[in-house]
Amino acid sequence: MSKQGGAKHTAESPDTESRADIIIKGGTLLSMVEGQPPLTQAVVYIQGDKIVHIGSLDQEKILPHAVETINASGALVMPGLINAHCHTAMTLFRGFADDLPLKQWLFEKIFPAEAKHLSPESVYTAALLGSAEMIRSGITTVSDAYYYQDSTIKAFHESGIRAVVAQGVIDFPAPGVPDPSKNLKVGREFIERWIHFSDLITPGLFCHSLVTCSERTLREAMEISQDFSLPLQLHLSETLEEVRGVEKKSGLKPVFYLEKMGLLHDRLVAVHAVHMHEDEIDLLTERDVKVVHAPQSNMKLASGVSKVGYMLRRGLCVGIGTDGAASNNDLDLFQEMDSAAKLSKVSTLDPTSLHAEAVLKMATVWGARALGLEKQIGTIEVGKKADLIIVDTESPHLLPLYSPASALVYSATGSDVRDVIVNGKILLRNRSLLGLDLPRILNDVKLIARKIVGQTAS
Ligand SMILES: [Zn+2]
Repeated sequence: MSKQGGAKHTAESPDTESRADIIIKGGTLLSMVEGQPPLTQAVVYIQGDKIVHIGSLDQEKILPHAVETINASGALVMPGLINAHCHTAMTLFRGFADDLPLKQWLFEKIFPAEAKHLSPESVYTAALLGSAEMIRSGITTVSDAYYYQDSTIKAFHESGIRAVVAQGVIDFPAPGVPDPSKNLKVGREFIERWIHFSDLITPGLFCHSLVTCSERTLREAMEISQDFSLPLQLHLSETLEEVRGVEKKSGLKPVFYLEKMGLLHDRLVAVHAVHMHEDEIDLLTERDVKVVHAPQSNMKLASGVSKVGYMLRRGLCVGIGTDGAASNNDLDLFQEMDSAAKLSKVSTLDPTSLHAEAVLKMATVWGARALGLEKQIGTIEVGKKADLIIVDTESPHLLPLYSPASALVYSATGSDVRDVIVNGKILLRNRSLLGLDLPRILNDVKLIARKIVGQTAS
């Protein structure tokens, strides 16, 4: 069992007059705060949307009254996982076209299917499906990038998940944006429409790639992101073919092309970063650009292997994401963490290249930093937003529990998540979704899938 680490936790005295809305007691707390070891027999008080007290049951025999008290004995209490890159509504195309080369998969299957089958209604339903899957597997924040994003926000808002929702920008006709000359106007209006909507929703932009967006589009997208102090997502150096395309058009390696355009900024979130030379990684580090690693998508599409171990040793901030369900095919960040660690080891022939503790940081504290949300989420600390999950460890595949990080990265799956709290609200209790009508969502998705199969066959 994990060691007692209470000495390093700053357990503030609870105000005995005050009531907590939620008390979580008896679990082993993994705060993800640097230098804090796991704390056994922990208590966490939540008031409103915030964590207001962290302590130890040993020192607090009498707990204040709470609306809800959750017994977490036999479980790990940790920050909610942060899926730093996803195309949530692509759950609609889960298993639709597998085992193909990326270019063929994208241009012959996915782009035509999106053009034909995406609508505000289908994106809404598919985003609800993705939200349900993510919440059930312990994801409390998702950074999404897609089209018809008003519908995605509607679904996320109903589900209660925290999200960065980025409107896709591409210099081709796209779902909901048939005229590419209006892509940035649509993007700016999207941000203006949603920026003050909710604490849980951060709007933003997502440039598809350096080969599908012109210099002008990329520059303007960054200008808009800067105007609103928001992150800008970009697929970067995902495949060799893409890198060659950039070199052909600019004469530069992709990161140096971005540097020439003045786009290497601490708000730039470079997704994939697979085919990257060490001098490019060094420059990204110097400019404090954020990177998101998507190992299962990179493996499934045979894109390549990102040099994550090297990036972390250089001090680059790296989060982790599932990418869309069409290239994964699930949204389980536990499996993504397992893949990240093992892929790094096998590709470098070095079992020390990426530790479980580092991968866990990618899915929590570093993911929060990548999205510019580190002051609110990513660790369990007094004053931070109450985004927590409880992982049941009373299972054959999780015992004995010598190291919580090892158990979470190498043994756990999303189905081990028992309870999920986002912004102080319980979204999953004893593995039951509280805010979503799952049978209805599943039925609606089946109806859309039936139409997709019928129309595709006709
Ligand atoms: Zn992606």
